Amino acid sequence: MVSTTGAAAKGTRPRLSAPGLKFATVTVGNEHKRFVVHEDLLTNHSTFFRAALTGGFKESIDKAVHLEDQDSRIFELFVHWLYYQNFPAQKYNDDKDTIELYLGNVGVVKFEFRLDTLIRLYVFGDKYDAKALRHEAITEIFNRILNPFSTDEFPEAESIDYAFAHLDAETPLCRLLVDTTWSLDQLDFVDPDKIGSLSFMRSVWKRYKSGNSTGSIEKFDNKNVCHYHEHVDAAEREECSVRFKR
Ligand SMILES: [Zn+2]
Repeated sequence: MVSTTGAAAKGTRPRLSAPGLKFATVTVGNEHKRFVVHEDLLTNHSTFFRAALTGGFKESIDKAVHLEDQDSRIFELFVHWLYYQNFPAQKYNDDKDTIELYLGNVGVVKFEFRLDTLIRLYVFGDKYDAKALRHEAITEIFNRILNPFSTDEFPEAESIDYAFAHLDAETPLCRLLVDTTWSLDQLDFVDPDKIGSLSFMRSVWKRYKSGNSTGSIEKFDNKNVCHYHEHVDAAEREECSVRFKR
């Protein structure tokens, strides 16, 4: 499995050690859960927060933003990612509660919920335009689905529905879900009766029509994760391809 440690596609990191840095307060959901975060981290990684906190609006004066329709669990994981630049894991000595937050904290087969969390983080990255978060999330999803040592790791129907309900069918995550379903024949892992997304089913159908192979796992396995990255130019893609070469 390819490591995502270190992370590509990040710009210069803000100097959090500088004295006198400002903090922003973000309240989340109906329960108004309150998070206090370095402003530079939020504005550095999210176009939404850059506009809200520096755009001259009331929020930028108060340094306070409220996200009404947002799951606070996903926001907390976003904050964790902002500070640590990785997703919670024992190998990073992350706090047990943080890891459980990431895994979903329910069920026996926890990796299924980890993929669901990653999909939700990707959707968060889409909604609040946090490109590096999208990059990290889709890299992790790609590696987990294609991990040869864990071939049964695939999102559940509910997670697929969630992705297609919140994202355009042409976004990289939706393309990845469709490509893996087509190429790996992983529909076996998803109960068709549980899929509700017409957009997903339509996309899979189109993929079958456009596919010109029988769809072997070997063929898909050669596909580089960069196929789902949002690189700005060939040079950036080449640099990333080297790092993530399978
Ligand atoms: Zn790439």
